Amino acid sequence: MVLENAYWFLFHDDDLLVKEAEGISHILATSDIEQLGIVPINAQCIGFFHEKECFVAHVDSTTLPEGFSWKKVRPLYGNIQEECFWFACRAFHIMNWMKTSKYCGCCGTQMNVSTQELAMKCSNCDHIAYPRISPAIIVAVIKDNQILLARSNRFPPNRYSVIAGFVEPGESLEDCVQREIKEEVGIEVHSINYFGNQPWPFPDSLMIAFTAECSTEEITIDNQEIVDAGWFSAHNLPDIPDKLSVARQLIDWFVEKQTLNHT
Ligand SMILES: [Zn+2]
Repeated sequence: MVLENAYWFLFHDDDLLVKEAEGISHILATSDIEQLGIVPINAQCIGFFHEKECFVAHVDSTTLPEGFSWKKVRPLYGNIQEECFWFACRAFHIMNWMKTSKYCGCCGTQMNVSTQELAMKCSNCDHIAYPRISPAIIVAVIKDNQILLARSNRFPPNRYSVIAGFVEPGESLEDCVQREIKEEVGIEVHSINYFGNQPWPFPDSLMIAFTAECSTEEITIDNQEIVDAGWFSAHNLPDIPDKLSVARQLIDWFVEKQTLNHT
């Protein structure tokens, strides 16, 4: 299946095939994959971008001519048009879901891509699997003029960020904020307010961001996920996440608020 004038998000493992021109990465058009002689496997339509149909598909690894390369999705941020980046995130999420939904969870039969909706359907028992989206909260806890930042054992050396964690079954988002903070740093928070949200397809999260306030100073870290945590003022921040993440937007919000308070 090769459609004229479509965009193609072609993955081999976690690598996306892009075209390079003038130092910028671009998503492949149908003419590019015809030029490369690539055969997309299990192509799935994922919507329209600039009025062109978009497909995600797996491809076999291949040697590429000059001007084409394999790229990880996340580092593409800043090196590709921003709209394209977020569409590539959607494609990456769906590609990973398709990879882990090959077999029916009810009867074990191979699943097929649905032609009617974004789903995989079992040809034996008609079970339908939709893309998995895992909601997670992320929260900036403020006390006086300081923000709570913590270091996870998964972070690069010296990196600190705001607290985050997955929502559990039966839990409201606010319950989740309270539980995660209590579990990870042993404090109670109040005045929980919605801040914003961000799809985070590494591999399938939707980050829902909050701000909260706290009147307790003493922190007790869990020593499992969190290896260090502390209160930081706006002019004394450690190494923090890059501009892409909603974590950074929360920290930037705190810094801006402090600057406004002191002018
Ligand atoms: Zn089945």
